Amino acid sequence: MEIESEETKSQSEYSGIPASPGIAIGQAFIYDNTNFWIEEKNIPLERVEEEKARFKKAVDKVIKDIKALRDNLKTRIGKENATIFDPHIMLLEDPAVTEETFELIEKGKCAEFAFFRTTRKIIKAYKRVDDEYMKERMTDINDILRRVTINLLGMDSATLSNIETPVVVIAPNIAPSDAALMHSNKILAFVTDFGGRTSHATILSRAMDIPAVISVKTATSEISPGDMVIVDGTRGRVYVNPDQETIDRFKGEKKQFEIARQSLVELKDLPAVTTDGYRIGLHANVEYTDELNAVHANGAEGIGLYRTEFHYIESNKIPDEEDLYNDYFEIAQSLTPDPVIIRTLDLGGDKISHITSSETEANPFLGWRAIRVSLSLRDLFKVQLRAIVRASSLKNIAVMFPLISCIDELNEALDILAEVKAELKSEGYDFDPDMRVGIMIELPSAVMIADHLSSKVDFFSIGTNDLIQYSVAVDRENDRIADLFEPFHPGVLRLINITVKAAHKAGIPVAICGEMSSDPAAALILLGLEIDELSMVPSFIPSMKQIIRSISMDTAKKLAARILQCASAEEVKGLINEELKKINM
Ligand code: PEP
Ligand code: MG
Repeated sequence: MEIESEETKSQSEYSGIPASPGIAIGQAFIYDNTNFWIEEKNIPLERVEEEKARFKKAVDKVIKDIKALRDNLKTRIGKENATIFDPHIMLLEDPAVTEETFELIEKGKCAEFAFFRTTRKIIKAYKRVDDEYMKERMTDINDILRRVTINLLGMDSATLSNIETPVVVIAPNIAPSDAALMHSNKILAFVTDFGGRTSHATILSRAMDIPAVISVKTATSEISPGDMVIVDGTRGRVYVNPDQETIDRFKGEKKQFEIARQSLVELKDLPAVTTDGYRIGLHANVEYTDELNAVHANGAEGIGLYRTEFHYIESNKIPDEEDLYNDYFEIAQSLTPDPVIIRTLDLGGDKISHITSSETEANPFLGWRAIRVSLSLRDLFKVQLRAIVRASSLKNIAVMFPLISCIDELNEALDILAEVKAELKSEGYDFDPDMRVGIMIELPSAVMIADHLSSKVDFFSIGTNDLIQYSVAVDRENDRIADLFEPFHPGVLRLINITVKAAHKAGIPVAICGEMSSDPAAALILLGLEIDELSMVPSFIPSMKQIIRSISMDTAKKLAARILQCASAEEVKGLINEELKKINM
C-alpha cells in the first residue's frame, strides 16, 4: 500500500455558516463520534523503541482478538461470512502501515497519534477512489483504529472532556450532550460538517465564547489531526495550514476583536435606551451556573432564559430536588434583586437525555418534547417545580413553560404548579406566593391564541428559534435547508407582531429569547414592534446596547410599520440595510 508522505500538508480554505464570532488559531483535533480521534502527543526520543514495542504489542493483541472472533463466528454465521474480518487482519499485518506508524514514532509522536495519523491517511486515499468496496474498507480502518487505540490506552471510550491541550475541534456535528462537556477551556474553536445556526450545540458555543464555523461539509474528512487551523467564526471561514502571513494577519484580527469586545463591555453600566428615551431590557440566556460571571461582566439586567435541561442531559442520573434547589437558589442569589426566569425542562428534539432516549421518533421536533415530556412525567415535573418554587424565596424568580401549543397544556401546567405550591405551603416552606409565571411562544398555534393565553400568565417570551422552525417548516438542525431558516420572513415578523399586540392588550410584557434577539439588524425591527426585553448570550449584550443607544424608537416604529407590509425577506432586509446605513452600522 502507498501512503502519502508526511510533507503533503496542503493549504486549504473552507466556508461555512458563521455560528459563533471570534478568531481562534490552533491545532486540529478530529472528534468523530462515528469514527475515532486521538490527540497529538510527543514522547522523548529515548522512548522511541519502547513506544514501537508498545504499538506492536497492541497490534498483535488486536490481531489475536480478531482471529478469535472470526473463529468463533465461523461456527455461528458460517465460514463465508466470517471472512468479513480478513481485511482487518490484512491491514494490521500490512508492513506499510507499520512502517508509516514507526516513522511517526521516530519523529517523537506517541503510538496512538502515529497510528491515528496513518489510518487517517489511508482513509483519505480511499475516499478519493470512487469505488464502493474501497469506501466500505474505511469502516474497517476505523474499527481497527478503535481497537488498537483502546488497547494502547486501556480505555473504552473517548470524549471531548479528555482533551489536555487547547485545540480546534473538527467534528461531523456536536451533539448537545458533547457540548455539555465543553466547559473545559481546552477548546479553542469548533468546525463542524453539519448543524444549523440555532442548533443547541451552536448556541452553547456562543454562550461559552468559543468561535465556531458550522456546516463546512467536508471538514472532518479533509482536515487531519495536528493540522494548523485558523477559525474565523465571524465570517464563517476556516484556513488549514495557512502561510505565516495569514497567521500573522489573523493574530492581529484576533487582538482587534478582543479589544473591540472589551471596549463595548465598558458600556455595561449604561442603560439600553434609545436616542428618544425608550428603555428596553437586556437580559441573558444561560445554561450553567458557570456563566454567571459573564452575565455580570456584560451588564445583563437579569436572566431572561435559564435552560434547565442540561442538568438532565449531562449526567445519567436524574437530579434530585435538593440539587436543583441549590442550583436555582445560587442563580437567584447571584442576580438578586434582578429577575431570573427559569424555564422548565425542554428535553426532546435535539436535546436527548437518558429520560427521553428510549423513544425513537421519526420527527423528534414534532414529537415528545418540552412541556409534553413534563406533563407526562408528572413526578419528574413536580420535583423541578418544587425546587423552583422553593428557590423563589428571594422574590426574583419567575417560572416559564416551553412549547405551549394549546390552552389545555397551560391549564394543566398551572394546576400542577398550584398543587406544588399548596404542598410546599403545608410543609412550611418559605416561597414567593406571587412568583411570576410565563410561557414561551414558539408555535404558530400559540401565537394565534395569544389573546387567550395572555389572560392566564404574567409574561410571554418568544422563542424565535422554534417559532421560525415551526412556521417556515425548516428543521433548525438541518444545514441542507439552513438558508430557508429565515428570521426576516414577513410571516415570522407578523407572528411576532400579533404576539406583542395580544400581550400588550392584556398588559403583560413580551421578550424575545431566541438567537434572533442578538442580531443587530433584527434589533431594529424588534424594537419597532415594541418588544419589551431581549434575552441573549451574555457576550452579545454590550454590542446590542450600543445599537439600541444609537437608534430612535420613532425610526424603529416607522421601519416596523413598513416591514409588516413586505412580501419577502429580501424586501425586509433591503429596508433594514437602508436604515442601518443611515446610522453607520
Ligand atoms: C427558542 O426556541 O427560541 C428558544 C429560546 O428555546 P430553545 O433554543 O432552547 O429551543
Ligand atoms: Mg425553543
